[in-house]
Amino acid sequence: MKIAFIGLGNMGAPMARNLIKAGHSLNLFDLNKTVLQELAALGGSISESPKAAAQGSELVITMLPAAAHVRSVWLGEDGVLAGIGRGVPAVDCSTIDPQTAKDVAAAAAKQGVAMADAPVSGGTGGAAAGTLTFMVGSSQELFDTLQPVLAQMGRNIVHCGEVGTGQIAKICNNLLLGISMVGVSEAMALGAALGIDTQVLAGVINSSTGRCWSSETYNPWPGIVDTAPASRGYTGGFGAELMLKDLGLATEAARQAHQPVVLGAVAQQLYQAMSLRGEGGKDFSAIVNSYRKP
Ligand code: NAD
Repeated sequence: MKIAFIGLGNMGAPMARNLIKAGHSLNLFDLNKTVLQELAALGGSISESPKAAAQGSELVITMLPAAAHVRSVWLGEDGVLAGIGRGVPAVDCSTIDPQTAKDVAAAAAKQGVAMADAPVSGGTGGAAAGTLTFMVGSSQELFDTLQPVLAQMGRNIVHCGEVGTGQIAKICNNLLLGISMVGVSEAMALGAALGIDTQVLAGVINSSTGRCWSSETYNPWPGIVDTAPASRGYTGGFGAELMLKDLGLATEAARQAHQPVVLGAVAQQLYQAMSLRGEGGKDFSAIVNSYRKP
């Protein structure tokens, strides 16, 4: 299939690589020329603009940093909607606010283009391994069309409901993750300060009611889980800056919905302070250092 892939960063490049490996022919566009050349060497062809990438493509995929980029790449003068054919399916995999996802899909629909939001979880490792989870907001018909291609980049392809619900699922999950990591950090640091062996404490939590993914798989205390970023200096995981972005999306969506997110707002401020200390590039589990003496 001829696929336009726009936004070839930490996530988009490995996703595009998996599509090339699966035998698709890719029309590539990014502002970064180096990554374009790397992917062209694997068999993709370089386009001059989102519009040019979309022209003649049978599917358009975007994977961009934030809502402003999604708006300009889709709605701009040289944007996807200026080049895409009627009836061509489209999907944005960026993590953005649900309202922008709905607005851009509505603009696409006016041109006879059905567009889905399909943010992912699984990080850069999942993107490289082709094991991402896609949270898809679209009609059932569009989901059925996209599913086989998304399955070449991911393992779990979940239909969440109509347009915008993929983003809702993503920001609600990450709201909870941001909060649960702070909770586990507080508990681990308190235990250590009071004098219990942290390995024993983690073992008790993980066989008791405090157990969660942040305590069991991704414990923020160094040395508890060998494979967790905490055991390698908080490198190579999910950056605190990205968690901060997702908490910002969640608290803003909550404001629009007049919905309280008390713990989410506190967690957001803690990650904000971490960013101010210059630690935004570390894995988000380094939030535990807010509770420890330097
Ligand atoms: P990134 O910054 O590494 O990549 C974004 C790419 O988009 C860059 O190559 C950039 O040059 C390109 N770009 C920006 N503006 C453009 C434009 N106008 N036209 C064309 N290309 C443009 O970001 P990433 O880590 O790949 O993340 C992409 C999305 O996935 C974000 O929304 C992020 O929140 C989400 N996400 C990231 C992770 C992760 O672990 N990195 C995990 C889950 C979801």
